[in-house]
Amino acid sequence: MALRTIRMHGDPVLGKVCREVMEITPKVKMLIEDMLDTMYEAQGVGLAAPQVGILKRIVTIDIGDGPIVMINPMILKSDGEQTGGEGCLSLPGKAGKVTRPNHVVAKAYDINMEEFEIEGTELLARAICHEIDHLEGHMYTEFVEGDIYDVEEEE
Ligand code: ZN
Repeated sequence: MALRTIRMHGDPVLGKVCREVMEITPKVKMLIEDMLDTMYEAQGVGLAAPQVGILKRIVTIDIGDGPIVMINPMILKSDGEQTGGEGCLSLPGKAGKVTRPNHVVAKAYDINMEEFEIEGTELLARAICHEIDHLEGHMYTEFVEGDIYDVEEEE
């Protein structure tokens, strides 16, 4: 298990657009493993590669149904609307109200560079949108309605 340092809000790396992954090298595989370890250790629902300082289009998500790895993800379709509290591992202890689509269909490549489609509603739709935003250099704080507030840390 290898943990990487999570970059915090304000770090310039979080404002950069990430590059596509062209092939799965041992280095990319290790990055993905480390991202999963780092996400679970921080008890996050999702993590994007730029959050560990790597400008590659890779995200990991787990909303409680097992790990999802998305390489070069792209949203194909989105509809509906949900408004709710959203947080980010790059801004721990904080959250803000963000409106997102309630349903998304996305495509991505898996660890074997096989293309797959994924459909998500509610939290999964929110997580997919949030993580793909990171790949474009965006944080949820740019879309917050109202103030960013403190959330209670879980013991
Ligand atoms: Zn985030």
